Amino acid sequence: MRKFSKAEVAEFYRRLAETRPIPRTELEFINPFTLLVAVVLSAQATDVGVNKATPALFALADTPGKMVALGEERVAGLIRTIGLYRTKAKNVVALSRILVEKYRGQVPADRELLQELPGVGRKTANVVMNVAFEEPTIAVDTHIFRVGNRTGLAPGRNPFEVEQRLEAVTPPQYKLHAHHWLILHGRHVCKARKPECPDCVVASLCRYPAKTVPDGWVAAKAQAAAAALKEARRPPARSPARR
Ligand code: SF4
Repeated sequence: MRKFSKAEVAEFYRRLAETRPIPRTELEFINPFTLLVAVVLSAQATDVGVNKATPALFALADTPGKMVALGEERVAGLIRTIGLYRTKAKNVVALSRILVEKYRGQVPADRELLQELPGVGRKTANVVMNVAFEEPTIAVDTHIFRVGNRTGLAPGRNPFEVEQRLEAVTPPQYKLHAHHWLILHGRHVCKARKPECPDCVVASLCRYPAKTVPDGWVAAKAQAAAAALKEARRPPARSPARR
C-alpha cells in the first residue's frame, strides 16, 4: 500500500474538517465527571445505548460524591440496559470514591492519573483529555482502528500502533479534532460491513482496494471536486470602473 504524502494527509483532514467543522462527541454529559462515567460505560457498547441510560443516572448523581452515595446496587439498576453493567457499576462507584478521596471530587487533567482509575484504559483517558480538557490526544477505538488501516492513513497492528502513527502524521492544526473527525467518519461513512464509498469525501485519497465503487468513478468525482474547489477560490471578477 502506497504511503500517504504530507500533502495527502493534510488534504484528507481538510476534507473531513469541511464536512464537520466543529465535530462533537455523540455521548451526552454535563461536566468532566459525567463525561468520564459515560466513556467508561461506552466500552463495548454503543453511544446511543449509553445515552438512553445516563440521563436518569446523572439526574441523581452528577458528582463523584453523589455517585458514591448512590451505591453500586442502585447504579447497576440504572444502567442495566448497558452490557457488562455489573462490572461497570462497580468501576464507576470505585472511581468516584477515589476522585472524592484523592482529588477533592475533581477529575484530574492528567492521562496517567486517569489511567490509574478502575475501568479507565488508555482510550478512555485519551477521550476525557481531548473532550473535557481540550488536549490534542487521539483515542483509537474500533472505528479509528478500521479507518486508519483501511485508508492507509495510519496502519498498525493494534490500537497503540495506530495512535502512534496518527500522532506522527496528523498536522498540528488538525490534532485537536482528529479523534472526532475519524471516529464520526468511521461510524457514519466508512462503516465496518459496507463502507459508503460513493458518499465518501476522502475516496480519491483512500488506499482501500475493495472500495464499493470503481476507481474510475472515484477519479472522476475527485476531478469534479477539485474543479469546484478551484472555482470557489477564484477571486470575484471586478465590475468595470464607473465613469
Ligand atoms: S473510500 Fe470507502 S473505504 Fe475508503 S475511507 Fe471512504 S468509505 Fe472508507
